[in-house]
Amino acid sequence: MRSSSACFDELRTFCEEVPLVDCHDHSGVCGPKYTDPIQAVIGGYFPSDIHSASSDAEQAVIHDQARPLAERWAVLEKAWKRSCHTGYARVTRMVLKRFYEEDDLTLDALERIKDKLLDLEDATVFEGILDEANIAVRILDIWPDVAKVLDGSLELTPRGRLVISLPGYHGIRCRENVDGLMAPLGRTVTSLDEYLDGCRAIFEGHKAYGVVAFKDQSAYSRTLAYDNPSRAEAERVFNWFMDDPRRCASYPDGCQPLDDFLFHEFMRMARHLDLPVQIHTGHMAGIRNDIAKTNAIGLTRVIELHRDVRFDLFHANWPYNDELVYLAKNFPNVTMDFCWTNIIDPVYCQALFKQALSAVPHGKVHAYGSDFGGSVERAWAHAAIARDNVAIALSEMVDMQYLDLDEAKEVAHAWLFDNANTFFRLGL
Ligand SMILES: [Zn+2]
Repeated sequence: MRSSSACFDELRTFCEEVPLVDCHDHSGVCGPKYTDPIQAVIGGYFPSDIHSASSDAEQAVIHDQARPLAERWAVLEKAWKRSCHTGYARVTRMVLKRFYEEDDLTLDALERIKDKLLDLEDATVFEGILDEANIAVRILDIWPDVAKVLDGSLELTPRGRLVISLPGYHGIRCRENVDGLMAPLGRTVTSLDEYLDGCRAIFEGHKAYGVVAFKDQSAYSRTLAYDNPSRAEAERVFNWFMDDPRRCASYPDGCQPLDDFLFHEFMRMARHLDLPVQIHTGHMAGIRNDIAKTNAIGLTRVIELHRDVRFDLFHANWPYNDELVYLAKNFPNVTMDFCWTNIIDPVYCQALFKQALSAVPHGKVHAYGSDFGGSVERAWAHAAIARDNVAIALSEMVDMQYLDLDEAKEVAHAWLFDNANTFFRLGL
């Protein structure tokens, strides 16, 4: 993508040279070693658009590796023709071109690339692609083996910095959940106080390991509008299911007082540990979910209460840009994070980068996060799209004489690198 702005090329070249802080990724291991050409080129998020443009039955055929490629392609081709211009489809086209030297997705192209599929289990290949994307560091949400975090033996993928994966700790509904979470400590927990002590020990262990944030994506399965229930309400739920291991608190009313209470307790722990909290807001992976519950505006009471906790709000709250601009403008403890969003909707990002420049302090924007797991070639494509979006937005603001080109470069550097480096205390 490009802009017709006279300074676009200079600004885009500048953005290419700025190392990226990848604010969010899920690469727990290097991989995959592709064996299927369709998986190699339409994996990641694009299956959601393909699904949206086809049907459950057709989606199943496309991904059924037991069927002949030609049979799968016949179904995929119809969906591709209906979906080939989305942001996700751009990732597919860029990967096809850069890594397989193919200009278009066709059956012949899929047949040709069969024998040269990427082996991303090779750490040298994996890191080589990070080099080419000029990604300096990656903040990883990988749901690790907690025992390995606590004893320090967990190994991260190249350039990774770990976060604490939070949702499970407050989404407890039965004794089995509690026992599983506390197992790495070797503790038997019998009360809410003991559970909170256990969680504190686990989070302190993560801090000692070197985590840079908490990360919470509970919005997939619950509203972000946390209430502030009393300890007694929460304890009633906890004691009820601990008293009989066969009990399970019902969603949402049965478990929410405990869930909400614990979330607030964990925000106090985040304050104590001086770690920022990354929160999923807006669009969700996959198809068919409820977007209203994920609007960042639901977090207003949490943000107002926990003034000493720094909240990094994800996915630019897509599609609720205005609410995010409001939150980032008005609360010192809120930053906007465009992770994943640059490929969900490139044009939304270009517009929101402009809107953010005019409304939100530019030191509060984190412009890039790949949000894949493995598939570093797609992170490479995503990085290029993010740089395009930033350069398009800022060059057009230069055309408006809103700022000059040198200032635009400073903003681009802040958005792509400096802000996140400072916010997450990465020390780069
Ligand atoms: Zn993610």
